[in-house]
Amino acid sequence: MQNISILLFTFLLVSNAFGRFQSLDLNRKMGNVNQSSQMAVGLKSKFGKVFSKHFDGKKLGVLIEWGNLRPNAYASFDDEGAPYVLLTEGMINHRMMNQDSVNLVICHELGHFLAGSPKKNRGRSQKKSWSSAEGQADYFATAYCMKALLSFESTPQKFASEGISKDINSDIDYLCGGTLRCKRIVEAAYRLARVYADSKFYPVSLSLVQRSDNVVSETLLSHPEPQCRLDTMVAGALCPYSLEMDFNKNTQLECDKSIHSRPPCWFARGN
Ligand SMILES: [Zn+2]
Repeated sequence: MQNISILLFTFLLVSNAFGRFQSLDLNRKMGNVNQSSQMAVGLKSKFGKVFSKHFDGKKLGVLIEWGNLRPNAYASFDDEGAPYVLLTEGMINHRMMNQDSVNLVICHELGHFLAGSPKKNRGRSQKKSWSSAEGQADYFATAYCMKALLSFESTPQKFASEGISKDINSDIDYLCGGTLRCKRIVEAAYRLARVYADSKFYPVSLSLVQRSDNVVSETLLSHPEPQCRLDTMVAGALCPYSLEMDFNKNTQLECDKSIHSRPPCWFARGN
């Protein structure tokens, strides 16, 4: 029995790793962290243009770890104290990913630097780290970062929702009406939540309209469940005031007064 489950586990890992090689147009280099690939340079300049003012003149790095097929991304500081974001090849090349959702991953990672409170704890202590909580980074990613990024695009790119089912498409229409930017952000949120869901070893269904009914009594600082993360990203996308929100000012955000607030599946009001 144990052998069978090990075999199945290995098969899942291998099929996950090789089933998702739908490549974007990349200058691919295997087996190293690369700062100079065409894609990393493009992303760095795009995000640098919009967000450099937030980093006190320090250059924001965007790194891609080619050869690492596990979908992952993180934010950190280099030896000189400059912030960087790293994405693995497995994240970029996941079958659900497209350009908007790659941007959304980077937005989430920037959220760890810029999204304000609630912040994570440092290790097991109660001291606060520099990094915003996961749910907070998710909210910032759609409420602010993606909107800021798309507002820099002179002509909105056309909307092609490959790999998205009819039902999901009509849910996106229902949520966004005819607003192209909203549709792109909500679709990217769905794609990314699907990546998170697929990394679980059990089937996870996701809905854009049926929210998680989980209610926390204490704010969750680590990763919420995929449905909760999707709810958070959709709430941010639909918050109408979010480009004016100051995430660093305090814990109260404009949309907290509305249905597009940070959802109770991870955010507990009052703590
Ligand atoms: Zn994160």
